[in-house]
Amino acid sequence: MLNFDTSTLGTFLKEKRRDYQPEMISYDYGTVESCADGIVRVAGLGRAEYGELLQFENDVYGIALDLGLNSVGAALLTRNESVRPGSPVQGTGRVADIGVGRELLGRIVDPIGRPLDGQPLHTRESRAVESPAPAIMDRAPVDTPMETGILAVDSMIPIGRGQRELIIGDRQTGKTSIALSAMVNQKDTGVICVYCAIGQKAASVANLVTTLSESGTLEHCVVVASTAADSAAMQYLAPYAACAVAEYFMHQGKDVLVVYDDLSKHAAAYRTMSLLLRRPSGREAYPGDVFYLHSRLLERAAHLSPELGGGSMTALPIIETMAGDISAYIPTNVISITDGQIFLESELFHSGVRPAVNVGLSVSRVGRAAQHPAMKAVSGSLRLEVAQYRDMAVFAQFGADVDAATKKLLDRGVRMTELLKQPKERILKLSDQTALLLSLRCDGLEKIPVAKMQSFVTELLPWLHEVHGEFMDSIDRSKKLPDDVSQSLRQAIDEFAARWEA
Ligand code: ATP
Ligand code: MG
Repeated sequence: MLNFDTSTLGTFLKEKRRDYQPEMISYDYGTVESCADGIVRVAGLGRAEYGELLQFENDVYGIALDLGLNSVGAALLTRNESVRPGSPVQGTGRVADIGVGRELLGRIVDPIGRPLDGQPLHTRESRAVESPAPAIMDRAPVDTPMETGILAVDSMIPIGRGQRELIIGDRQTGKTSIALSAMVNQKDTGVICVYCAIGQKAASVANLVTTLSESGTLEHCVVVASTAADSAAMQYLAPYAACAVAEYFMHQGKDVLVVYDDLSKHAAAYRTMSLLLRRPSGREAYPGDVFYLHSRLLERAAHLSPELGGGSMTALPIIETMAGDISAYIPTNVISITDGQIFLESELFHSGVRPAVNVGLSVSRVGRAAQHPAMKAVSGSLRLEVAQYRDMAVFAQFGADVDAATKKLLDRGVRMTELLKQPKERILKLSDQTALLLSLRCDGLEKIPVAKMQSFVTELLPWLHEVHGEFMDSIDRSKKLPDDVSQSLRQAIDEFAARWEA
């Protein structure tokens, strides 16, 4: 039985009462004037701030997006019947935030931090979804590669940690697959991945999560998902929330890779909200501040200076184009914000060149400085050669008579294209990529029939690992390619290629 001394309880309560200081908390109240399509007009709320969370009845939240003289326009985060004209609204005095921390690793959450995988989630810290980008002096140059494991990307359009590289292309051209390979490739690198799904089918997100978990990468990943069924406001918030999660890890000194899939749907969600808020519309009916929508998001990617912990956030935004038109409004905006783009072409994709990277229109403006020496040594003129070949191949299609030199270039180009093809589940290490590119310098390659190139590529790498394992390991370890290793590998590849001659 509990022994209870009532006299101490009395003094305790007396002391509490004596010390009690009433505190004034004033709330900003308003009433709903109208509500339709997830957009609410609220009368009152004279002190509301831009982006402030507003609380409606039954725990429904909205964000204030339009501050008028007499009323406030807000977008509801969840659809709810209980918000009606006349119902009260309260300003919360805080902007939207999301729970952050290591607890999020391996989890799937929505843009306001509620778990979507059916397990309870308790985070100890939270972070505002919007925050200013690191200043110029807080940044360090990009100097470490973010390897994607895709030969065509790592050799010709290399990405550095802290860079923003756009993945752009029509629908179904392998955009998500490139980002997914990049995430799976971070399995043993210590890089934390944040995947943000914006307005996608729930089934696609589920597929992606399955792939991540089957590859054993999900433990280093956070998925922030808003599906097509979510409100426009949720879709609008999603990338900022994902960015806040990534920022938390970046400030802990970690390297983070964040994928926004995709920003076209994000812009469309923002357009929906703006039109319903009756804001003036501009080109393609987007509001005037749609550039700022993406620039303030992507500017938050950075490589922090050593004083700030040296963490980095690499951003891979994805944009879907219509009929390959990269000069439309949103694509040009995002191209101008990012440090380069990987342009995927549906024609290439359907002709079997996968990943369907259009080398001529793809660039990486800072990644080259961050490439490993081994990759630098073998990939020098590859981009130019592939671009030249693709141009030439277009003419050769017409069956024109070509001279010997052009024929040689075309022959080499075909083999180069075969070499760069890569199924999405095959991820290549640095040594594999180096060996494949070295084979381009071997004379034996030209004698292999084009039809046999694919089987040559698939069998070359296991053979090299078996017979010349020590060279391959040394490349992966030192990231360098000394002359003697290069020489021996070339000899070995020539020897292997001789077996494939017609
Ligand atoms: P969406 O526009 O629907 O988002 P997307 O551009 O993201 O499409 P993915 O979903 O990545 O494209 O890929 C489309 C299809 O192409 C998928 O079925 C995928 O399996 C296939 N695919 C992607 N990359 C490759 C590859 N390198 N090799 C073979 N198939 C691939
Ligand atoms: Mg996709």
